Amino acid sequence: MGRIDSLIAEMTLAEKLGQLTMTAADYAVTGPLITPLSEDAIRSGTIGNLLNLYGVEATRRIQKIAVEESRLHIPLLLGFDAIHGQRTVFPIPLAEAGLFDPVAWEATARVAAEECAGDGLHMTFAPMLDVSRDPRWGRIAEGPGEDPFVGSAIARAKIRGFQSSSLADVGAVAACAKHYVAYGAVTAGREYASTDMSEGMLREVYLPPFRAAVEAGVASIMPAFTDLNGVPLTASVFLLQEVLRGELGFEGVIVSDYHAVAELLNHGVAGDLAEAAALALKAGVDIDMMSDAYRLGLPVALERNLVTMDDIDAAVRRVLSLKERLDLFQDPYRRGRADTGTTAQSRALARDVGARSLVLLKNDRSTLPLAARKIALIGPLADAGSEMRGPWGGAGRPEDCVGVLQGLTEAGLDVRHAPGVPIEENDVSGLAAALALCADADAIILCLGEALLMSGEAASRAHLGLPGRQQDLADAVFEKAAGKPVIVVLFSGRPLAVTEVVSRADAVLAAWFPGCEAGHAIADVLTGKVSPSGRTPVSWPRAVGQIPIFFGERPSGRPFNPADHFTSHYSDVENTPLFPFGHGLTYGDFKLSNLRIEPGDPLTVKVDVANHGAHAAEETVFLFLNQKKPGVTRPLLELKGFGKIALGPADQGTVTFTLPAPTGRAELFVGPNADFRSMLSLSL
Ligand code: BGC
Repeated sequence: MGRIDSLIAEMTLAEKLGQLTMTAADYAVTGPLITPLSEDAIRSGTIGNLLNLYGVEATRRIQKIAVEESRLHIPLLLGFDAIHGQRTVFPIPLAEAGLFDPVAWEATARVAAEECAGDGLHMTFAPMLDVSRDPRWGRIAEGPGEDPFVGSAIARAKIRGFQSSSLADVGAVAACAKHYVAYGAVTAGREYASTDMSEGMLREVYLPPFRAAVEAGVASIMPAFTDLNGVPLTASVFLLQEVLRGELGFEGVIVSDYHAVAELLNHGVAGDLAEAAALALKAGVDIDMMSDAYRLGLPVALERNLVTMDDIDAAVRRVLSLKERLDLFQDPYRRGRADTGTTAQSRALARDVGARSLVLLKNDRSTLPLAARKIALIGPLADAGSEMRGPWGGAGRPEDCVGVLQGLTEAGLDVRHAPGVPIEENDVSGLAAALALCADADAIILCLGEALLMSGEAASRAHLGLPGRQQDLADAVFEKAAGKPVIVVLFSGRPLAVTEVVSRADAVLAAWFPGCEAGHAIADVLTGKVSPSGRTPVSWPRAVGQIPIFFGERPSGRPFNPADHFTSHYSDVENTPLFPFGHGLTYGDFKLSNLRIEPGDPLTVKVDVANHGAHAAEETVFLFLNQKKPGVTRPLLELKGFGKIALGPADQGTVTFTLPAPTGRAELFVGPNADFRSMLSLSL
């Protein structure tokens, strides 16, 4: 008998349920302590997994209790959310998606994994793969944006980065793809609300990143809190058993979301904790995070014959196999040998990725790069290092984060700063002092946007304008600027609906939340040391009423025609987004030409790219397909590829894509974003 079978044969029911339970240690950020109660439970083998504890000493001490003092010596599995970095905070995932660069996506996950492992962790609850077309939903910040092709590419890169070539590697951690599935489509963008959609939409848009994660060998998956078409994911036999385990062939561990098993009672699908536990276990959830529903409910469910010991054993086997794959039985202390903190190398990566995640939305009359040296730096986010982490900052320390004021000052600019107004509060007492700075400056940089906690979990917004009195600040600065260039640097975990600010500013840089090197990264781009190359991975609405707005819409029987009233349109706003998916300017001036196809399967698609500008820059090119199918409407555009090319002034090169040869009628589009007007096309 192998190790796992003999352990299962020896385990009491309480010990088995311990392996299926994950509880939070006292919250790690306030001090890595475990309560005496959890210690006793670990000693008795009735808690087998923990979240929210990290750090060499704390993890080693607790692991020692499990390994040396529990009857069966089974090591603990320790998990934590390193959503965009552990010690070194990288840009939020939505921002990083805009790099369209799998090498960078993998590199930041690799660093995060090394830092997690250094901190004694074995698992991270990342990558977050929820496609979302609704910027009202705060968790859009944590994910890949609006497109499933991008989400799938991110899934592959992140899982390689976290899990390395083998989970047994000392610097590898188990990844957890979440939140399966369609969480990004909650009703009206309201957090935790229900989702409802056709199976076609589910399979085309929301499922592909999870399929990619499974194909890439992801070790675990977390079902979403939400229900889909009336069945909570935590209890969905169809989505967990049939689709995930059956169709996609996932054999790893399914870990519930925080308290989600007990919340089956609130969903109204279970009458008591025993029923909730039985529903989740039967659907295939192996680990109950934070509900205590398995420990309290499964013994009762067994008595009622709602579950069998075989169901429990199957889940225990999956959890123990994960611990075995992580090499925890052999050497439970192999991770957690040294917590590294940030290093010069990790910060250099954060600065590079941070700069490349910035999206230059607008740059009239080549306002940027900055010619001026005397800068009025205004706004509540100008000197706000700790906000730069964005939501889910891992174990990143606020004091390790560089704000814009520090970045610009270190870049040698002559900077005068005043916040003007706070981020959210209704206080304009600082307005006059801020406006006074404009007179003596050559250029004005306005740092506006959201606080870090305005996106992320439980952070839906119905209004996507500037919070607090920031609009008043912006209006006053535009008035006062008197012809001096006004550059807006916008911080947010989502696209904002700020059409007016964008129209009045000379240049707008969407900075999202760039992470610990924010100030340096922003200074690099504003001063021209780095040409911006980030592209928005999600469409920016002109107005909240356009949401959901995305490039993959289907055509309509009455597509918009300005000459015909009875066609698809709004009477008070254009149909198009303010900025389409893929939009982002550079300091170069790129032209695409000579789109061509070399036959075969896959097809080879090539396009020439020339930089007519005066700056070296990196261009991103997208390949879209419009496929026609008899009897079924298809999206106007489906993303099938992206490529990047760095070119010096007057240089040219070629971007090459491969594409499985489509069957039937299809048209190819290649361009710098999803706006038809900017694309070259070919019929197939
Ligand atoms: C979130 C998950 C997260 C978990 C553990 C939940 O509230 O939805 O994404 O992994 O907490 O921190």
